[in-house]
Amino acid sequence: MNRDEILYYLTEADDDSALFRRADEVRRRYCGNDVHVRGIIEFSNYCCRNCRYCGLRRDNVNVVRYRMSSDEIVAHAIEIASYGVKTIVLQSGDDFFYTQSIMCVIIEEIKRKTDVAITLSVGERPFDDYRAFRSAGADRYLLKHETASDKLYEQLHPQQTLEQRLRILEYLRKIGFQIGTGNIDGLPGQTVDDLRADIDFLRDLDSEMASVGLFIPQHDTPLAHYPSGDVALALRAMALVRIATKNSYMPVTTAIVTVDSSDGLQKGLQAGANVIMPDFTPDRYRKDYTIYDNKMQITLEATYGAIKGEQRHIAQDRGDSLKW
Ligand code: SF4
Repeated sequence: MNRDEILYYLTEADDDSALFRRADEVRRRYCGNDVHVRGIIEFSNYCCRNCRYCGLRRDNVNVVRYRMSSDEIVAHAIEIASYGVKTIVLQSGDDFFYTQSIMCVIIEEIKRKTDVAITLSVGERPFDDYRAFRSAGADRYLLKHETASDKLYEQLHPQQTLEQRLRILEYLRKIGFQIGTGNIDGLPGQTVDDLRADIDFLRDLDSEMASVGLFIPQHDTPLAHYPSGDVALALRAMALVRIATKNSYMPVTTAIVTVDSSDGLQKGLQAGANVIMPDFTPDRYRKDYTIYDNKMQITLEATYGAIKGEQRHIAQDRGDSLKW
């Protein structure tokens, strides 16, 4: 798809159906009809970073902080595996309370007691930590690039750079992780050219997983008064990313389901997605993982319902790289 076609779909398309048909065809051809279910545990909402859009930012004193113990995380992962979920995603803010050795014990214990794949989503760490996590048995690493515009990235992420983000992703790949990344559509200050650059970034990086998120404001952040991103535009961006990246795993992000709670999962599956990530964070913690306002919980039941409704199949394998 050329630059003009991409810009057309990001700006003026009034009939999306041809785009979604094409994305669905690419998804079927390169990924098949399986939908992979990846269970998330948000095990800590502490974060040392200060991203301007995120409710977990360090300067937000209004969030009730929590950390799950190592034993709690492992026990919960075992329970999720017992439901037939083949991938556990361990997600947190950038929280160095979980040292390299604590993380490695958690990873080793889960791998010893289950046969799941482990995806880590624990942010920017020293490279030595990444190597240790990989040796301990972690399979995948999710680190969203958020925006491919250097300027916007630096405005939104104090003391962080897009260049470092990319360097980390390349290092993770080099040491054997399957990598995942993705953007946020609708960020304040984002242009259509920035969105097109996100699609190019995802195509060029050729990561195992590519996602399209959606900006939703959080009331205790500097961006509290900006409107949510446009879900229709995000769905079109998903379709474009599917066409551009072909055999990537693409989730329906929780942000899309939060804005379109009635049928966001189905629409995401129709726009090229082949992954759903139900949230298994225990109830007593989940309400405090307030990255944005009114974050929905995608349940396992809703996940299976959406897959069945779209006449797709629940994947029975771990969903490892389709690039190999
Ligand atoms: S987006 Fe991630 S790194 Fe940034 S403040 Fe939120 S949890 Fe921390």
